[in-house]
Amino acid sequence: MQKHYYSYNQYLRKTFGVRTHRLSLDAGFSCPNTDGTLSNQGCTFCNNKAFSRYTSQKKPIKQQIAESIQFASKRYKAKKFIAYFQSFTNTYADIRTLAKEYNQIKGFKDIVGISVSTRPDCINKEKLDLLARFSKDYKVYIEYGLQSTHDKTLERINRQHSFATFKKAIELTKNYKNIYPAAHIILGLPGESKENMLQTAKTLAKMPLWGIKIHCLHIVKDTALAKQYKKGQIQLLSKGQYLDILIDFLKLIPKDFVILRLVSDANPKQLIAPKWLNQKNKVLQELDKKLNKRGQRPFS
Ligand code: SF4
Repeated sequence: MQKHYYSYNQYLRKTFGVRTHRLSLDAGFSCPNTDGTLSNQGCTFCNNKAFSRYTSQKKPIKQQIAESIQFASKRYKAKKFIAYFQSFTNTYADIRTLAKEYNQIKGFKDIVGISVSTRPDCINKEKLDLLARFSKDYKVYIEYGLQSTHDKTLERINRQHSFATFKKAIELTKNYKNIYPAAHIILGLPGESKENMLQTAKTLAKMPLWGIKIHCLHIVKDTALAKQYKKGQIQLLSKGQYLDILIDFLKLIPKDFVILRLVSDANPKQLIAPKWLNQKNKVLQELDKKLNKRGQRPFS
């Protein structure tokens, strides 16, 4: 089906020419927003229990990569892979530890890229230099968690950084032409109007980004948000509201920004609400139908 935005799958096909799959990895990093450095509460939507080293059944990175490649080759017929350091804050360690973990990808001939997810206050020149060295052999991506460009919202969800911190991280990353930066955004955050969310789109549209990953706010167990939701303090977007805002959001984003995600996956055992979130394919089909109806220009 023709897409009305530059989807991540389209990007992967165009860039690598064969089916390429992102391998989600957990290198055992922590987060300054949960270990007490900035706070020990974490972001209000984040499941902090999942952060304990003692409750996770972590395997060495090499094993994680090998098993995921085997699985994705069989299940998705993938031929090439991107190592995605996804869990926690993946630049939150000293440079030697980071190098040791990132270097684990080197023994796998079908890995063509490395992607690192982090907070904008956990990056500096030394860490970007390290990542830039990988660009000789790999495509290098960095994903910064932002969620909203509004400081009032960032405070409300306990991000413990401001929008200015994100801008600074992007300014620094801009100096590395072979590192592709993306922003994570959540639509439907507490206290935000549709106008606030669209303002976020307008602000990001002017920034030197490669991509955006969009999530709809959802509630998972064992979070501060779950408690607020139980008390009736959180209003979630309906599927229709989310799609309407999303369509307007996408209209404001430059056509060459890669859209990494439009609907999140949530572990069904952890998800409290909204339940429609886990009907991902149906939601995306509905989005395409709405975009067709509105006559939005297809991406080509
Ligand atoms: S969402 Fe990211 S920054 Fe926030 S507590 Fe969780 S890992 Fe830390």
